[in-house]
Amino acid sequence: MWKRLFLRRCLLALAAAFVLVSASGSLFAQVTAIRAGRLIDPETGTSAANQIILVEDGKIRAVGANVDVPAGAETIDLSGLSVLPGLVDAHNHLALTYKKMPENDIYYFTYVLDSTPLRAIQAVSNGMQMLSSGFTIVRDMGNAGNYADTALRVAIEQGWVPGPTIINSGLIIGGMGGQFWPTPEMALDHNIVYPEYLDADTPDEIIKAVRQNILFGAKVIKIMVDSKPYGYTADEIRLFIDEAAKSGMIVEGHVETPDGARRAIDAGIWSIAHSEALDDETHKQMAAKGIWRVGTETPFTEYRGSQEEFDKTVAGLANAYENNVPLTFSTDADYYVPGMSRGEVAIDFLLTWKAAGIPAPEILKAMTINGYKCSQTENERGPIKPGLAADIIAVPGNPLEDIDALRDVQFVMKDGLVFKQDGVMVPEKFLHGGPVNGWRIR
Ligand SMILES: [Zn+2]
Repeated sequence: MWKRLFLRRCLLALAAAFVLVSASGSLFAQVTAIRAGRLIDPETGTSAANQIILVEDGKIRAVGANVDVPAGAETIDLSGLSVLPGLVDAHNHLALTYKKMPENDIYYFTYVLDSTPLRAIQAVSNGMQMLSSGFTIVRDMGNAGNYADTALRVAIEQGWVPGPTIINSGLIIGGMGGQFWPTPEMALDHNIVYPEYLDADTPDEIIKAVRQNILFGAKVIKIMVDSKPYGYTADEIRLFIDEAAKSGMIVEGHVETPDGARRAIDAGIWSIAHSEALDDETHKQMAAKGIWRVGTETPFTEYRGSQEEFDKTVAGLANAYENNVPLTFSTDADYYVPGMSRGEVAIDFLLTWKAAGIPAPEILKAMTINGYKCSQTENERGPIKPGLAADIIAVPGNPLEDIDALRDVQFVMKDGLVFKQDGVMVPEKFLHGGPVNGWRIR
């Protein structure tokens, strides 16, 4: 009898707990209805008027003109704006900011001046600046001190701070010296090259370097293909690709020479960073193999570049477009321009894309759909489709007709939370004293 009573009490307690949990689930489920004056689909380059996007628990639940809005849902009125999915910068370095003063834009000195903790804080700030300009995904491709890029990604994913979805590379792997030409004193006595680059000069070291990065939180592997005369052979690049693939990861190669580009293409690399070494021949090979061009096409501005470099960059991008190379929008914008945010520096790369004569819908596609594919996020976030993360931005004007409309991002939603509204950052819902999404996210 006593036993039966005890059992009944236990069952009752369990039932009560269940009711509480389900009640709190419905009480706190955040349902938001976004009224979009014009909803843009970058995949097809079309738009639809007066659409409703229903967002619940960070995800898109429904999209259409006749979506039932549940009673009590919060409404966000974007009926005067163009609504579109978030943008992607396929190559940036959020934990690196070199400057005219004091280091004369020479990033060797930045590594000496700025500690990894300071750079992690820079990265949080740069991430927020990118998000404010509509970039909801950033591929963060190394040069982040001692894994500040992983710290940034984890802090965002655990829910401590706002920021784009980060696809980070950890340390850049290269032959001895990495991208630097250090003195013996720098490299051997003081470790100044490290941890910016991870040396891997033999097959064993290649495998170990890939594993080190994966262990310490990389989501993509970045290698220096040819910044030294002893750059990687196609077989060595294949070894990187195979080892990364064991953990479901792909490899991006920093390429500086036509021969390096050919070796990377021959090995079947996922993406090639930078475009100065790419020509008509390698573009045709990249198109045939579906290799992403992460061209980092710097515009000529009063703060950067030269007319000569710009003309070459524009001609290269136009040639890639004519050859149907898979294009991403990528910036390598890792420097400080007084008066501009990191996001404004990045969006200014539109200058190059317009100069290359690429139509606005195709530029938008490179900045969205292609970016989701290159960063391998397209099944979880990117397009405004039911089931995917609610990463949504809005601008006045129509970016399908005038791509510069993207320079004036008025609204940003990330994972269903409003980060920017009426042109003003309102990040308080993102800021927490602890890991609200759980500390096990690594
Ligand atoms: Zn870079």
